[in-house]
Amino acid sequence: MNGTLALTLCLTHDCTLRCRYCYAGSKYAHAMTQETAELGMETGLAEAIRTKRGLDISFFGGEPLLEWELLQHCCDYTARRAAELKVQVRYGITTNGTLLTPERLPHGSNSAGGYNWFSFCVTNLSY
Ligand code: SF4
Repeated sequence: MNGTLALTLCLTHDCTLRCRYCYAGSKYAHAMTQETAELGMETGLAEAIRTKRGLDISFFGGEPLLEWELLQHCCDYTARRAAELKVQVRYGITTNGTLLTPERLPHGSNSAGGYNWFSFCVTNLSY
């Protein structure tokens, strides 16, 4: 293995917050389609195979937890395809935390249905 590739999927430009300086939020409140997400994941998997690397998939926004069902679909889809193709995949999320619930906390493994690392979008609404 020669390290990892990074694939970022911007699941939606919508957000639960409206930080004035940010490009996300109501201005471009569009969600990614499932077809586009699958095309992105297949492209990432193919490139991982070609370069003999693992694949880090990061869910980004806006607030990606607004598209929780799409996020879960992406995890299930890539876990299945990665097992078929023998590619090592890890999942991550960047979130502002407003929609985090116990069931949405990171999982401790690379298995389907969840991500295993996350980072917070720390924001200041006052400017
Ligand atoms: S929480 Fe993050 S993504 Fe959402 S509007 Fe603020 S800076 Fe943008």
